[in-house]
Formats: sequence, structure tokens, C-alpha cells
Amino acid sequence: MGKNPAGLSIRGVSKKYANGVQALHNVSLAIPPGMYGLLGPNGAGKSTLMRTLATLQEPDAGQILLGDIDVITQKAAVRQTLGYLPQEFGVYPKASAEEMLDYFAVLKGITSRAARRATTEDLLRKTNLWDKRKQKLGGYSGGMRQRFGVAVALLGNPQLLIVDEPTAGLDPAERVRFLNLLSELGEHSVVILSTHIVEDVAELCSNMAIINQGQILLEAAPLEAAAALQGRIWRTLTTKQALPALEQEHRVISTKLLGGRSLVRVYSPAQPAPGFEAVEPDLEDVYFSALTGCFHPANQRPQSTVAP
Ligand code: ADP
Repeated sequence: MGKNPAGLSIRGVSKKYANGVQALHNVSLAIPPGMYGLLGPNGAGKSTLMRTLATLQEPDAGQILLGDIDVITQKAAVRQTLGYLPQEFGVYPKASAEEMLDYFAVLKGITSRAARRATTEDLLRKTNLWDKRKQKLGGYSGGMRQRFGVAVALLGNPQLLIVDEPTAGLDPAERVRFLNLLSELGEHSVVILSTHIVEDVAELCSNMAIINQGQILLEAAPLEAAAALQGRIWRTLTTKQALPALEQEHRVISTKLLGGRSLVRVYSPAQPAPGFEAVEPDLEDVYFSALTGCFHPANQRPQSTVAP
């Protein structure tokens, strides 16, 4: 094993579906152990990449290494050490959490009954479902079901845990509980959180990439990426009628309605016009700057060294 035994290396991965959609275009990422965010809008190619990492489909080109394991050619070895929580996690509604987890543990190859009992208890406690272990999964809330999915994904101590769009459909309290659970997962394994929700990444991930139309637009640490935009994000309040003209004149990265008016954020190295005020850049600014082409790897470094 190399210096970074548990890291994931993705090099030049491309995938075109039979219908002609180029879902991944020469994707390269170096993913260290810890929480990693893969952020992008719907249709960006996240699930395609996640399914490829999970050995459920093959790319047309490229190489993927998990430590020493070649993910594309050594599928059985990857599956031994992989946890995958897909967007939609189906459960048997009539089984209890305890029964179902025990069943999945058998599938994972944990044959000793005592070892299974210890493992399932540990995971049900970790996911805060121990008190509900006898309850039928059909009666679980969305958040409980997601946490149960994490318990299943964690069977066998995976070196690579893939979580695809986990908080969509959770209410705010469930979301917080779920994110707290993810944040407790070891720093020793690679945990990839694939999402279109910027806050999920901002709150949890020490590293991330932004993907759109099958291409990586930015690979960075969220805090550093936001710091690199210092002095370049401006906001102003305008009317709906004046918005189109403003969009013509300035590099608008996002607009939000506020009390019937539009709160506009603009990318600009200097004050765009009177009436614009400088704001502290956040990860949402990084995301929208990247998506609108203002902020990309080619100009990332020069920007971060230019004084605001
Ligand atoms: P995301 O997870 O970011 O929403 P996907 O990987 O699901 O993105 O999709 C990327 C693109 O590939 C989309 O344009 C989608 O319509 C297309 N796509 C995904 N799966 C298939 C498939 N099995 N066959 C054809 N096109 C697909």
C-alpha cells in the first residue's frame, strides 16, 4: 500500500450511455479519507459516478483505485469493503430492523451468530435505532429508514462508504440527526456524500468537488474555496422588472426573492456599480460561481492570490 492506503483515486473516467448522453467526461479526482462532498445539480452525473464506484456499472474509459484495489477489474474485492446507500433504499416493510440487519449481515458474510449479534447491536446503537429495533420497517419515518440504510451500509466496516442524495425528502430535524450520524463516521474510511444540497457539504465535508454536465468544475476544500472568492461577491436588491437588464450587464450568480424583490448576487473583481455591497462569500457563492463559469480550476489559483 502507498502513503495513502485508504484513499480513492479516480483518473480519466468517462461514460456515454447508449442514448448518446455523455454522463461523465474525463473525470479525475483524488479523494482522501474523511467526508468528501460531490456537489452538482440534477443530471450532473453524480449517480453515474457513484454507481461506477460501487461497481454497479462500468465506465468506457479511466482508472479507479481504492488503495491498492482496482475498482474496475477487482469488483469482488471492492464489494468486500464497500458500503453503498443509494437514493432509494428499499426495505421489507414487514421485517423489523433487527431481523433485516441480521439478514444483510449474513449476506455480507458474517456467519457467526455471536459476531452478527454484536455487530447488529453496535450498528443499531450507532444509528440511534436500538430502541426501535423490534419495530417493523414499514412503520419507520423517512429519517429512520435512512439511518437504517446507514447501518446496512456500515456492515463489515467498509473502507469506502458511498451515500447518494441522502437528505432529499427528510424533514429538517431528521436531516440534522442524519448529518450528525454521518459526521461521526471514521476519518479512516472514505465517505462520499453525493448531493445537490450545498448546506450538506458546507456542514460536513472537509473536501469536495463540484460537477456539472459530467465534468469536474472545481476540486477544493469548502473553506478555502470560499476564501478564494473574498472581495468578488457583491449583492444588491432590485425589482423583478430591472432584473433582466442587470443580468445583461453583470455576472449574476444567483437571485433570491425577498419580500417581493430580488436579492441578486454578482461575481465581480471590483464593485460592479454604486448600490452593490460586498458580502462574505459562502459555499453557495462558490457553487454558483463554478456553475456559471466564473470560478473554475484554470483561474482558481490566480484569483486566490489576488488581493481583494
Ligand atoms: P445526477 O445523479 O447528478 O442527477 P445522473 O448520473 O443520474 O446525474 O445522470 C447524468 C446524465 O445521464 C443525465 O442526463 C441522465 O439523464 C443520464 N442518464 C443517467 N442514467 C442513464 C441511463 N441508464 N441511460 C441513459 N441516460 C442516463
